[in-house]
Amino acid sequence: MPKAQAVHPLHAPTVSPRLITTAMAVVTVMLLLTYLVTFDQGAVSQSGTFLHELMHDGRHLLGVPCH
Ligand SMILES: [Zn+2]
Repeated sequence: MPKAQAVHPLHAPTVSPRLITTAMAVVTVMLLLTYLVTFDQGAVSQSGTFLHELMHDGRHLLGVPCH
C-alpha cells in the first residue's frame, strides 16, 4: 500500500518582499497625490500657478467641495 501524501490545500501564496515594498510605495504615492488634489487647498502647491491650477481642476473633476 503506497504511503499517503499529506495534502495541504490552504497554502498561502508566497509574496516577495520586493513586491510588498513596491506596493507600499505605490500606495504611499497615491495617498499623497489624493491629499494634494483633495485637501491641500494650495498649502503645498504654492510653487507656481500651473501646479495650483492643476490641483484645483482635479478637485472640480473629482467633485471635491472647493468654492
Ligand atoms: Zn474650485
